[in-house]
Amino acid sequence: MRFADITDNSEAVSAIRAMVDSHRIPHALLISGPSGIGKMMLARAMAAYINCESPRDGDSCGVCPACRRIAAGNNPDIHFIYPIYKVKAKKLEYSSDYAEQWKQLLKESPYMDPTLWLRLMDADNAQPRIYVEDAAEISRIASLSTYSDRYKIFIIWLPERLQTEAANKILKILEEPHDDTLFIAVSDNPGAILPTIYSRLRRIEMKSPSTEAIADRLARCGISPASASAIARLAEGSLLKAFQMASAGGETEEFGGYFRDIMRMAYGRQVARMKELSDNLAALGREKSIRLLDYMARMVRENFIANLAVPPLNVMTQAETEFSSRFAPFINVANVEEISSAINDARRDISRNANAKLVWFDFALLLLIALRKKPA
Ligand SMILES: [Zn+2]
Repeated sequence: MRFADITDNSEAVSAIRAMVDSHRIPHALLISGPSGIGKMMLARAMAAYINCESPRDGDSCGVCPACRRIAAGNNPDIHFIYPIYKVKAKKLEYSSDYAEQWKQLLKESPYMDPTLWLRLMDADNAQPRIYVEDAAEISRIASLSTYSDRYKIFIIWLPERLQTEAANKILKILEEPHDDTLFIAVSDNPGAILPTIYSRLRRIEMKSPSTEAIADRLARCGISPASASAIARLAEGSLLKAFQMASAGGETEEFGGYFRDIMRMAYGRQVARMKELSDNLAALGREKSIRLLDYMARMVRENFIANLAVPPLNVMTQAETEFSSRFAPFINVANVEEISSAINDARRDISRNANAKLVWFDFALLLLIALRKKPA
């Protein structure tokens, strides 16, 4: 991870680069800002710049052994602490018990999708915390000598999730840190950090990139300018959401086909075919099913809006628009909430590993009734 990977927030990037260049690295730093904009990328880029063996042009080299280990998430001088779902019965009590899942998160979702993190831990509806065990571990590691005479860096993801007891345990080390030790806290919600911790952190704020900057970023990844600006408008300032929508683009055609099939079959009351379709959808697997349900939720919204004759958001493909021109009237005030919440329920059940064939078939049966409802 390099500063060059962060294409906006130049003020925050420059401030951090200047700290390192001038050898005035604070002991404890807070990078805060909205979720999904690359705060963890900046923390990782800073860690890489500090520990890179041959930094050049104000950035880490990206190729030396230290940089490569940072990229892979296993540099022995860089310690990640993150909220976990604690399962005492399985002895899952430390951040490091989830190290493999954490590496997967960093690799697959550099913009840090909190939902994916819960799914990787098999803890969809949990409220993960940073527990006192991890705080004790920080104190222990901080007192050891470094692996390579370089900085020892602790990157704490979501310090707002520190348990009070855990926070108290790391106060002393934040107050009187060892030399060449740096804490970087990365927060989506700095207002929720315990004041005793917050007051000890030097603050760097990142902002949501503009719609234009997001569109530009997508366009440079090969997304067509028209799709890039449509996605950027829907992304609400989040690069995470923008890239999620863009990568779903490849599945749009397939998902559009399923959406049209299930709606046509339900409206036509073709129960046998609905059963067959449910079996096929169940075979898609959990992650893909969740993406398909998110797609269906969006299509239901789009069709409802189209039906209201509000100026179109212009985010539908040609095939979607054609289908919508006939289908939209069937999504109306009498059923839109019911259908949307049925999609939510199906999403929740599938993420909890319920029997997917039954979930999809139940959903199709609900549609069969709901689609017939008309506004009073
Ligand atoms: Zn390097």
